[in-house]
Amino acid sequence: MARPDLDELVARARSGEHRAVARLLSLVENGTAAGRDGDLPRLAAALLPHAGRAHVVGLTGSPGVGKSTTTSVLVGALRATGRRVGVLAVDPSSPYSGGALLGDRVRMGEHATDEGVFIRSMAARGQLGGLARATPQALRVLDAAGCDVVLLETVGVGQSEIDVVGLADTTVVLLAPGAGDGVQAAKAGILEVADLFVVNKADRDGAARAVRELRDLAVTGGADGPGGWERPVVPTVAVRGEGTTDLVAALEAHREWLVRSGEGRRRRAARAEGEVAAIVLERLRARLGDVRGSGDLAVAAHRVATGEVDPYRAADAVEAALLRTASGADGR
Ligand code: GDP
Repeated sequence: MARPDLDELVARARSGEHRAVARLLSLVENGTAAGRDGDLPRLAAALLPHAGRAHVVGLTGSPGVGKSTTTSVLVGALRATGRRVGVLAVDPSSPYSGGALLGDRVRMGEHATDEGVFIRSMAARGQLGGLARATPQALRVLDAAGCDVVLLETVGVGQSEIDVVGLADTTVVLLAPGAGDGVQAAKAGILEVADLFVVNKADRDGAARAVRELRDLAVTGGADGPGGWERPVVPTVAVRGEGTTDLVAALEAHREWLVRSGEGRRRRAARAEGEVAAIVLERLRARLGDVRGSGDLAVAAHRVATGEVDPYRAADAVEAALLRTASGADGR
């Protein structure tokens, strides 16, 4: 296949052409799934001058709590103020990808045909660490495409979902009253990552109590970080769009705080560190594959199996071979 003209694709994406954005996102997904740098460095370089503006908002919470509904009403509210919006739904536990299977068009209803809304789903496809490398780059595509806000929605709950929302500037944790979804039942680790809480389904019994419990927790959890951000608790009824204005205002307040306190810069630096480390690890993994292919690993393993050397000395030999391929220029 011919190598795409990435600068041209990026230019078309910047002008709001949906097909170009979709193509770039596919390049990111397929490229990271391939486990080799491939076109990704060229793509990253083409995106670099145009990214860094978008406010990335992560939404997480147990299945059924109302993430999709909230995402949809948020898109509507943000569009009403004229902002260009990206939606990236990430499912770390699903092997499927590409949008169709998660039914984006159906899910997002009226927004699917809006020129100012870019929607995409991504899944792990069994690639170890794949999403860790794909998600930041996909966010950069949507950012470069001129999205003012990108909503990063995770589909499940677990450590990998928490890792994914960690890529956001502002993390929203959704809870719902009753059905074991209260504060007590919240999955370990999820409350800690919140910059703001949403108690959705506030039309249900127990909502006031959930809000109260969370407000206590938000306060006792401390004014976290420099500049003392006090985590707000926003009750919503997403199905009726109630509380959306408050939620948008809270998101905006957090964004301003990130800038004012310097915390935004600190988070970006921490995320960049994670991203670079993930790329280095992937390269090392690919090189280990090369060493395996060249037979060096088999030779070392044989010497361990026959009791000739211990596994650490064998690992030294394999590592030396790995570094040789690394310094042997970029024949990748
Ligand atoms: P997700 O799995 O977290 O994305 O949750 P969904 O957005 O798909 O919502 C799950 C179900 O809860 C759907 O049937 C929604 O219609 C319903 N739902 C969402 N928000 C509310 C709400 O505020 N009140 C009530 N009663 N139901 C809601």
